[in-house]
Amino acid sequence: MREAGKITGEALAYAHGLVREGISTKYLDERLRAFFEKHGAKPSFLGYGGFPGCACISVNEEVIHGIPSEDKILLEGDLVKIDVGAYYRGYHGDSARTFPVGSVSEEAQRLMAVTKQSFYDGVQFAMAGNRIGDIGSAVEKCVKDAGFSVVRNYVGHGIGQALHEDPEVPNFGTAGRGVRLYPGMTIAIEPMVNAGGHSVRVLQDDWTVVTVDGSLSAHYENTVAITEHGAEILTDVGDG
Ligand code: MG
Ligand code: MG
Repeated sequence: MREAGKITGEALAYAHGLVREGISTKYLDERLRAFFEKHGAKPSFLGYGGFPGCACISVNEEVIHGIPSEDKILLEGDLVKIDVGAYYRGYHGDSARTFPVGSVSEEAQRLMAVTKQSFYDGVQFAMAGNRIGDIGSAVEKCVKDAGFSVVRNYVGHGIGQALHEDPEVPNFGTAGRGVRLYPGMTIAIEPMVNAGGHSVRVLQDDWTVVTVDGSLSAHYENTVAITEHGAEILTDVGDG
């Protein structure tokens, strides 16, 4: 899991370095595909449920599951969310970041900062003996206090030999409730935060999830391992 996580984190750091105005999301996807190949890993998302890309790349009001496209060109001021997973020696990593294209609005900057902070508020509670609801309630509180909303229709998840395993890891909940955490569990904590309302819908491509009100959305995800003493973040390579 550490090795798969490391490749996943490095893939995102690599993608971060490529983000700039004028490139297509398909270009990012192709570069990521080459990156995985070079590192002997398989892209976890390619073909998952029929998904056609190597990464999910979602822009602005797109929340998650954006399909990489030649026609989707990044523009100055956009927020681009890149979500990738590496499958390596039988295990998956899963991580997402939100990157600005050039300079972005103050609201977009605050949305990115709050989304990242909400992950860290939640991960504090990801330790043996705590419960899933402890994580979700901390994430939700951070987001609500900032005046933003947490997406409720999509949640984090267990991860290991399969990309998505039990338990679900919602970004909302009640402290003290839900599945108990034990050492050795590996989960993906992934706040999806909207600047406006929490409602989302799926576009006609059957994949892309967008905010109903058209507001901006941000995503921040890491795969973490539960230990007695807290969470070990497996996909963080110190970039964004
Ligand atoms: Mg992901
Ligand atoms: Mg995930």
